[in-house]
Amino acid sequence: LVPMLTAFLYLIGFTPAGIDPVPMVLWLSSLLYLWAINSSRLFSLMPIAKDAIFNSINDGVMVLDESYRIIEFNQSCKRMFPPLTKSMFGMDFGEVWYDLAGDSFPSKLENAVITEEVEIVMDHEKRIYQVRTSTLEHANNRKGLLLIFTDITELKRLQVKLEHQAYYDELTQIYNRRAFFQKCVPDFEAAKKVASSFTIILMDIDYFKKVNDTFGHHIGDQLLVHMVDVCRAQLKEGMLFARYGGEEFVLALKGCTLSEGVAYANQLRKAIEAQPLITTEGVISVTFSSGVAEALNETNETLYLLLNKADKALYAAKREGRNRVQVYGG
Ligand code: GH3
Ligand code: MG
Ligand code: MG
Repeated sequence: LVPMLTAFLYLIGFTPAGIDPVPMVLWLSSLLYLWAINSSRLFSLMPIAKDAIFNSINDGVMVLDESYRIIEFNQSCKRMFPPLTKSMFGMDFGEVWYDLAGDSFPSKLENAVITEEVEIVMDHEKRIYQVRTSTLEHANNRKGLLLIFTDITELKRLQVKLEHQAYYDELTQIYNRRAFFQKCVPDFEAAKKVASSFTIILMDIDYFKKVNDTFGHHIGDQLLVHMVDVCRAQLKEGMLFARYGGEEFVLALKGCTLSEGVAYANQLRKAIEAQPLITTEGVISVTFSSGVAEALNETNETLYLLLNKADKALYAAKREGRNRVQVYGG
């Protein structure tokens, strides 16, 4: 504009006679160009590259100033939290988070470098994010904060699935042997500490191999599920029921005496006896034998010893003719 205006003034004769100011003004505007190019870093690639990196990373990044007001966020952050808009720049992070998540942020931002997990429902879908924070130090000593959100929803889902597979029996969906010991050992130790009674019932289906051999493995499987369903219907609060082996099940009764355990084992035995399995191959009656043992109030008593006793009692029940409850040492 400056050279154009000068040329115009020159043409209509407003400039001193005999002097063409345009070349001089061009020199001035060249200086302005240089200043503009330099100050806006027009030919510098780094800011463009940084911008591209900032927006292409999969993690959501939010930049806060020293008063925890939002000053920047990247595209992944926008994808994670669609209601986030540039009009929120300058707003307090706490307020914005409340708008996004409907809840306050789970940790204090003052504790920099935290790793927190937040759950947030977006579009009717629960997502889980791991949040890392790191402080930003500006050259002029002002501090800001970087919030990095990593989507760990799938990872968590997989973790829950693997945990389920590790602790639950696939066929019957009750605890497996590993889960049984993990849960039962602390219960046993706690009962021992306060000298409370603790009873174990071991159950083994009678002539199960015959069911497999006669009707096939798939009917055997159905029978195992049936056995679990019938027992589960009789379970009471605080009882630990697990698949101990192939067709063996275990029940840990904390706070129960031997006679209570025997009564309960008989209750289960009768329930199973009264409810045969109805299959495509016909009606299959099923019974189980059971060994019951109560923990001794002695310092060297362990869960393993107790299970061993219940196993011995179970073996005796089999020997005595099956479909019965036998007490260890009884
Ligand atoms: P007993 O009255 O002496 O207990 O006889 P039993 O036939 O029940 O005992 P045995 O230990 O001889 O047989 C247990 C059978 O259980 C052998 C095995 O093939 C079967 N079994 C173990 N796990 C499973 C399973 O998950 N599904 C099926 N269908 N069968 C299983
Ligand atoms: Mg067996
Ligand atoms: Mg058996």
